[in-house]
Amino acid sequence: MSLVTESIRSPGLTASIELFPPKGEKAAGRVLREVEEIQAGMEVAFTSVTYGAGGSTQDGTLELVLALAQRHPGRVVAHLTCVGAGEGDLGALLALYLKSGMRDILALRGDLPEGMTPEQAAAGGFRHAVDLVRYLRKLGGFASVGVACFPEGHPETPDLAAHLAHFAEKAEAGGDYAVSQFFFEAHLWERFLEACERRRIGIPLAPGIMPVRDLEQLLRFAARCGATVPKSVVNALARYKDDPEGFKERSADLAAGQVERLKALGVRHVHIYSLNKSDIILKIADRLGWRKKAPAK
Ligand code: FAD
Repeated sequence: MSLVTESIRSPGLTASIELFPPKGEKAAGRVLREVEEIQAGMEVAFTSVTYGAGGSTQDGTLELVLALAQRHPGRVVAHLTCVGAGEGDLGALLALYLKSGMRDILALRGDLPEGMTPEQAAAGGFRHAVDLVRYLRKLGGFASVGVACFPEGHPETPDLAAHLAHFAEKAEAGGDYAVSQFFFEAHLWERFLEACERRRIGIPLAPGIMPVRDLEQLLRFAARCGATVPKSVVNALARYKDDPEGFKERSADLAAGQVERLKALGVRHVHIYSLNKSDIILKIADRLGWRKKAPAK
């Protein structure tokens, strides 16, 4: 078992942090500093780095993944999307990862790039994420292959039962665990867990937690991925429009409260969308008692 799946399956609550590839050298240095601050302040089971569908951020992802993997071997997950790709492109990147000892992949389809039809997107042989999971398993050599899940369903498949059947296929094809799209209300997770249980989907499921940094940005993200933002979240944060520090404190309260509610539902791993910043994450860690103790002098 890889360190990644081990941490997701561990009996105590563990957390992972998602990053996106920065643009430019200066930004890359900044992200690494933010990650180090998080790692110094709390236990991080692993970090993951997103990948622009269609390969738009391929170089940035590769650089950040390798830089992190050098510092935290076995504790970095590279996201990989297959939309618009073929075995040639994916195989070359995967060979590089394997050569560098990077063996943990989150297998995604990605959203269709603008102007690309579904047929064009699948011309390379990958129509859905399940095709990528199968390809990774055929290639072999990976310590873990994770997949995405959507507690509120996915915008392209309005029928929840049909979507769940598609999700089940990814688990059956060799997905080791699933990380979810962000959501806010614990009852959605409970409903999703029950539906997975009914379908006998047995892989560990890790909820995605989105600490809010900016309300408008959140509403844009949510509209794109079909996540519900409850009025209570909007109202709680809108009051701090002109108070950035108060906003961060309230945002950390909301995220920590959500983690507590999910823990009560049996959640053992949470995946936190960091948006490449340490401040709110460490405030969440304060509230949940996750902060590392200073070494005794
Ligand atoms: P799939 O599992 O292929 O599902 C996509 C849609 O196709 C769903 O509606 C599903 O129900 C449907 N479907 C699946 N199989 C079938 C079938 N056999 N027949 C008919 N319909 C089917 N995007 C990025 O570009 N880069 C990232 O790094 C990235 N990271 C992410 C991380 C997480 C944790 C999550 C939750 C999402 C991430 N995304 C990322 C976004 C993701 O790529 C999109 O949401 C995408 O639309 C769905 O990806 P998927 O892997 O779930 O695709």
